[in-house]
Amino acid sequence: MSRVVKSVVVVGAGIAGASVAVQLAVDGADVVVVEADRPGRATRAGAGIVPAPTLAPASPLEELRSAAAAAYPGAAADAGGASFAVVGDLHVARVGKDLEIAAETLTAAHGTATTVLAPGEANGLFPYLDHAYGAVRVAGTARVDGEAMRAGLLRAAEAAGARFAAGEAALDDDGRVVRVGRERFPAEAVVLAAGAWSADLAAAAGLVVPVEAQRGQIAHFGVPDDTVGLPVVQPLASRHYLLAFDDHRIVAGATRETGSGPDPRMTAAGVAEVLRETLLVAPGLADATLQEVRVGLRPATPDLLPLLGPVPGHPTLWLATGMGAGGLALGPYAGRLVARAIAGADPEIDLAPFGLGRFSGGQL
Ligand SMILES: Cc1cc2nc3c(=O)[nH]c(=O)nc-3n(C[C@H](O)[C@H](O)[C@H](O)COP(=O)(O)OP(=O)(O)OC[C@H]3O[C@@H](n4cnc5c(N)ncnc54)[C@H](O)[C@@H]3O)c2cc1C
Repeated sequence: MSRVVKSVVVVGAGIAGASVAVQLAVDGADVVVVEADRPGRATRAGAGIVPAPTLAPASPLEELRSAAAAAYPGAAADAGGASFAVVGDLHVARVGKDLEIAAETLTAAHGTATTVLAPGEANGLFPYLDHAYGAVRVAGTARVDGEAMRAGLLRAAEAAGARFAAGEAALDDDGRVVRVGRERFPAEAVVLAAGAWSADLAAAAGLVVPVEAQRGQIAHFGVPDDTVGLPVVQPLASRHYLLAFDDHRIVAGATRETGSGPDPRMTAAGVAEVLRETLLVAPGLADATLQEVRVGLRPATPDLLPLLGPVPGHPTLWLATGMGAGGLALGPYAGRLVARAIAGADPEIDLAPFGLGRFSGGQL
């Protein structure tokens, strides 16, 4: 490590915490990961869409997203594969004019790797789709099984020497010690990667970390057909989507329930919304088996940018949270950036736009 940080405690073993932990452990730090296994962990519920890299990122967030997408194949291979695959996506609509406009925007963003399928042609690539749809296809979009990615990262962290503590973490001594039951873990760096619960955790150290839970409900369908290589489907007219995994599974989501609070229940209205939007676009799924509805709490900030980096003016506390609706895609790369910053390494990307300082400075 460039800076000698010997002991680090990471609170939260979702994709964010797991990604920080593996890099720190590989770099030689003494890492403890604390995980409470709360209902509503976002990484378990996340769909897994990893958008294609963009040609000319126009904002710090786009730059981060694009770098994260470019780094994903390597990160997934290091984590043991994690069902990561570049499958492309179909941005679908019924009206030719809408497709033309989308084609222009998407081609500008992603280059020549886009193709247009006229209304009626997209069903050949995603057989459950309403026959009336056409599509703009972006070749570079990928999908990942977030839970498998997280498990692979944690295995790699353990192999590099990280230790694990199961239970609820609380901050003591102004964030210099992490307490889990009767055990106390003093640390030179404490990483708050507690997802939608990060604000409560930080409040104990007198910090305001503006992260709120945004509930998402998402359905998993079983189908008898071969689902290998099916693309992601994103209707231009809604924020819902469909994607497939190789085990005869189609995943369709999701609600975005801003203001839900940390309430991980499956609700009648949430499930109704997901099923309605799914069958509107993909009536071919009407006879699929509804296997499961997952519910996750996205860690959302007021400006929808993540919170990454040191807590200003605090000697030990770091943030790796607030990744909202894009955390499975951002997590591995963003986690690595935070880990490298803790080690004092030169940043590949400036973390300043993602710092807590952009809000009130963070003090209660
Ligand atoms: C329905 C849905 C669909 C999504 N789809 C996508 C997608 O297609 N692409 C994409 O990129 N992203 C997607 N996301 C977003 C993504 O899932 C999240 O941004 C990401 O998983 C957040 O990871 P995290 O590690 O910050 O949080 P989490 O995965 O929630 O992890 C936080 C962890 O901290 C633990 N914890 C909390 N408090 C404590 C404590 N006091 N002590 C110990 N442990 C604690 C929790 O148990 C939890 O495991 C989706 C999310 C949802 C809900």
